[in-house]
Amino acid sequence: MALTACAASAASKGLAIDPAVEPPTFSALTRLLVVAPHPDDETLATGLLIQQVRAAGGEVQILLLTAGDNNPWPQRWLERRIRIRGVDRQRWGQRRLAEMQHALRQLDVPAQALRTLGWPDMGITEGLLQSGSGLLATLAEAIGEFHPSLIALPSLHDRHPDHGTAHVLVRLAVARLARSPAMLAYLVHGRTLGVRYVEICGSAGQQACKQQALSAYRSQMALSRNRLRRLAALPERYALVPPRPGQPASALPWLPPAWLQPWLRLSVVSERGTQSWRWRDAPLRRDGEGIYQLTLTSGLDDIPCFVRLAWDLHALWIFDHWGWHEL
Ligand SMILES: [Zn+2]
Repeated sequence: MALTACAASAASKGLAIDPAVEPPTFSALTRLLVVAPHPDDETLATGLLIQQVRAAGGEVQILLLTAGDNNPWPQRWLERRIRIRGVDRQRWGQRRLAEMQHALRQLDVPAQALRTLGWPDMGITEGLLQSGSGLLATLAEAIGEFHPSLIALPSLHDRHPDHGTAHVLVRLAVARLARSPAMLAYLVHGRTLGVRYVEICGSAGQQACKQQALSAYRSQMALSRNRLRRLAALPERYALVPPRPGQPASALPWLPPAWLQPWLRLSVVSERGTQSWRWRDAPLRRDGEGIYQLTLTSGLDDIPCFVRLAWDLHALWIFDHWGWHEL
């Protein structure tokens, strides 16, 4: 079955779908790998895609990065407790995992198609910046074992740090493969997906099935039912990820004001590893137009190569303000 690029619907909303890009088609040979940072991302963002691949006879694997156990407000609400200990977190993660298994059954994904990596919820970015090679090796092995023809991965521009960083890790892992699968990036938090994308609308039956799968996530519906229902009712929109981007550029998209700069940290990540500086120590110069340019003597030749701007302190607000950018 062909992926439904809802060009007419997109055109009516003034959205741009690049006509030069052929949307992928599905068949019994399709091997879809969905990379989900938390339980529910796969249903919310790719519930229709999964169903369409399964309907075409293709195989689906879900790679779950964390158990979503660092989720204190729904847990406090449903368990009527203020303090959350390690053992409580563990129990919450198991609960969310059971919800995911239930949701996947609704989407016709067999239980053995779920693979969990057990990474720390809200800790993937720190993991990558502190010791990324271990995470990268695990991910590359998992991807290599499944041999996907298509990967659905979180968008680089997702404001949840686990999501943006998952994108970076998947891209670096895929760059190690001899042959790159097609990649479609989905957005759960934020607005900026990019201008080249395809949409999957799904049939009424597939939409109903997706909502049914979402119902399995009772822990998440408790405080966010309306938001999740609305999100799941939208057509699924995927940015096209070019497998081999062109020559990396050194320009940064950010112009942080001077008074903020003492609290900012800049990190560059590529296959070669991670380099990280306080803003004032970072290898930067401003060009004639006032744009910051990285002046690294090595590392910028790596493809892909990503840069991250973030607070250099722990903030209460969990979402990224600047986040990641691909050089
Ligand atoms: Zn998530």
